[in-house]
Amino acid sequence: MASLLQPDRVLYLVHGEKKIRSPLSTLYFCRYCSELRSLECVSHEVDSHYCPSCLENMPSAEAKLKKNRCANCFDCPCCMHTLSTRATNIPAPLPDDPSKTTMKKAYYLACGFCRWTSRDVGMADKSVASGGWQEPDNPHTQRINKLIEYYQQLAQREKLERDRKKLARRRPYMPLAFSQHTIHVVEKYGLGTRLQRQRPGAPITSLAGLSLKEGEDQKEINIEPAQALDEVEPLPEDCYTRPINLPEVTSLRQRLLQPDFQPAGASQLHPKHKHLLIKRSLRCRKCEHNLSKPEFNPTSIKFKIQLVAVSYIPEVRIMSIPNLRFQKECQVLLTLTNPVENITHVTLVGCEEGDPEDINSTAKVMVPTKELVLAGKDAAADYDELAEPQDFQDDPDVVAFRKSNKIGFFIKVVPQREEDGDVTVSFKIRHDFRNLAAPIRPSEEGDAPTEAIWLTHHVELSLGPIIA
Ligand SMILES: [Zn+2]
Ligand SMILES: [Zn+2]
Ligand SMILES: [Zn+2]
Repeated sequence: MASLLQPDRVLYLVHGEKKIRSPLSTLYFCRYCSELRSLECVSHEVDSHYCPSCLENMPSAEAKLKKNRCANCFDCPCCMHTLSTRATNIPAPLPDDPSKTTMKKAYYLACGFCRWTSRDVGMADKSVASGGWQEPDNPHTQRINKLIEYYQQLAQREKLERDRKKLARRRPYMPLAFSQHTIHVVEKYGLGTRLQRQRPGAPITSLAGLSLKEGEDQKEINIEPAQALDEVEPLPEDCYTRPINLPEVTSLRQRLLQPDFQPAGASQLHPKHKHLLIKRSLRCRKCEHNLSKPEFNPTSIKFKIQLVAVSYIPEVRIMSIPNLRFQKECQVLLTLTNPVENITHVTLVGCEEGDPEDINSTAKVMVPTKELVLAGKDAAADYDELAEPQDFQDDPDVVAFRKSNKIGFFIKVVPQREEDGDVTVSFKIRHDFRNLAAPIRPSEEGDAPTEAIWLTHHVELSLGPIIA
């Protein structure tokens, strides 16, 4: 079975706040902490908002006001493809002589994919290309705004309460009136937000279970609780007898994309303003260095720093797996790729008995006992057929093949469990790593070679089921 293109069968363990097992290609490597980082243990920060269609950048405040949607671009309500503006000529009566007509330019929205047009739902054509297309008003806007106001009030009160408690704990001798005053000053000038910067990615403070203390605030917003109705609108008489015409009813997805109207019929679908996307930067939570940051130029899609793990850590892939049989030894061919320009020395070590990281293994594994030497990555050599391969004096019993910065080698696996489920083996991979890009420390010898450090990763292979 060939598995070279299934990198998700090889998982690397990340020792973050949570222990995460993930393919190397989805991980980051913080070269300042020399540790693997998963998307779960880095801070996600919104760098900027932009529209994926017109690429216009929008500051966060404006994006919030516009409900994270682009003012100029629309999605097809039918198939969610981007709509384009079509121009056409329509006859219009002359202003000074209504009996004669002239041709006038008109614009409408059309989907190039499913052929839906704004004319289908009776939206009038516009006389300018930029449109000025209005979305129908949400009938529940007032209620929603009231609810938002109410919950903002709750959140603010909760924050005040929390701050007050914190302050009271810190300064037990301070009179309450004064401490309250201090909090209000902090709130008023927005210092509180800077002092306790909300970590991006942190869970949103739950608003549930708050108790309202009466008479505490002078301007209290009250909401009427939603009422459950005993009687609901009856279904139309012909509901069960009328044959369904599928193109006329909307799909669940189409309905949910317009939560404010949830149109049941295709004739009520309206174009939806396109959702903005974000450019996001990732930051190591331990050392606060950037792992990935978008380019400053807003129109560029490039990223400035990309500490993706595959460009620092040797990657193990499964090349071929023989038929696995219970308690039978079989050989699995793996490849190991060196992503850096230095020669890398790799040793594989089986997990010891009772290793807390080794919880998923269902097979015994024998890894090569000799050190594996990986040639440095050389981008030019990949295209040079005549390049002399370096001679590493490989032991043919260990190294199956070698090609530029990659080697193939065998591990032996003995499945230990007969029941269903994939056979999983794990081992440690230990390699030297020279941090060429580490912050430059003043050194007396001048150009001293960077010191190698040894890194160890826990790797888990999923080899598939046992063949009976
Ligand atoms: Zn746009
Ligand atoms: Zn469409
Ligand atoms: Zn770090």
